[in-house]
Amino acid sequence: MRYYGRVFRPPSEAYSLILQATIGCSHNKCAFCSMYKEKKFRVRPLAEILEDIDNARANYPLIERVFLADGDALILPMETLTTILKHIRKKIPECRRVGIYGSPRSILRKTPEELAKLHSEGLGIVYLGLESGNEEVLARMNKGETAAEIVGAGQKVKAAGLALSVTAISGLGGTEHWQEHAVDTAAALSAMKPDYIGLLTLRVYSGTPLEKMVKEGIVTPPSPKQLAYETRVLLEHIDSEGSVFRSNHASNYLVLAGTLNRDREAMIAKIDAALDGKERFRSYVELGF
Ligand code: SF4
Repeated sequence: MRYYGRVFRPPSEAYSLILQATIGCSHNKCAFCSMYKEKKFRVRPLAEILEDIDNARANYPLIERVFLADGDALILPMETLTTILKHIRKKIPECRRVGIYGSPRSILRKTPEELAKLHSEGLGIVYLGLESGNEEVLARMNKGETAAEIVGAGQKVKAAGLALSVTAISGLGGTEHWQEHAVDTAAALSAMKPDYIGLLTLRVYSGTPLEKMVKEGIVTPPSPKQLAYETRVLLEHIDSEGSVFRSNHASNYLVLAGTLNRDREAMIAKIDAALDGKERFRSYVELGF
């Protein structure tokens, strides 16, 4: 396999074959994100992608999942995506699921029929970054999409029969806007009812616009206790029956996992135990800060 620069994938794609269909992120301007800063967005030549599939087949006897990277591979034209999916199906017949990152823009550009077609060709899951349901927080973080657009994109993915995984970032509103961030994020998630919800925690990476905002006092990252309280408010407001909820990313101080709405009270009880000092927050060292 040939990889260009650092490659990222969702935690649930840890055992997947990562196939770079695009290089970098088509937006690449979110204030908090450092993932693809060193890469200029481009589409890889189709022949190279198909060759990588052939090489993977020759080298790995069992490939059950494939993840199409980088940041927004769903932006590829239909013809390219269907050719890739068909080639995966032909060369890797045991593959049970193909996943992809999709920006709201690339999802909204595709018709419902096109998304359904991708599903029928083997695409199984789309990973969508909500980050926050609050319009002001999204604008401040230069997400380039409104919460309404992101929710519409998520609903469109689900309507096409694809599984939907959505991430939000705890602490993204800072201590200044934590409450509206929590309440509006809960509302956006409730409107999409994703199959999977991943709650990450804000980390301030050096060289990002967010780092500058923190230095200038525009955004104050919340403490572990404040983050726990914010998550409590989010869980109190969410209504997303059947969504698998996880805050077990390397960035999270408190590991929570359950299925909504069934396990909401148990997760809130765990937060309360942590706020009362009966449950341990993971330390900076454990989180690798
Ligand atoms: S958060 Fe996602 S959309 Fe924003 S710059 Fe990073 S990869 Fe691109």
